[in-house]
Amino acid sequence: MAERRKFKKRFCKYCEQKVDFIDYKDLNGLKFSLSERFKIMPRRLTGNCKRHQELVTVAIKRARQTALIPYIVDRKNVVESPFENLR
Ligand SMILES: [Zn+2]
Repeated sequence: MAERRKFKKRFCKYCEQKVDFIDYKDLNGLKFSLSERFKIMPRRLTGNCKRHQELVTVAIKRARQTALIPYIVDRKNVVESPFENLR
């Protein structure tokens, strides 16, 4: 469960940065709540508050529709930091 260790601290990253609106084009903001396979991280792992988790979910789904992030990642394509390819 190495994945879990990244999310030790239990606070909402979006509240900390005082984010009121999460832009689906802002992948740096979204990647807090995405796993390395571009799945939406559950709230119990990210520590997001309910309000921001809902905003993140909507933003991620929009980003998928606009092909900014993939729906699924092939096992061969899994790399250490998938966001490097998107920049
Ligand atoms: Zn929050």
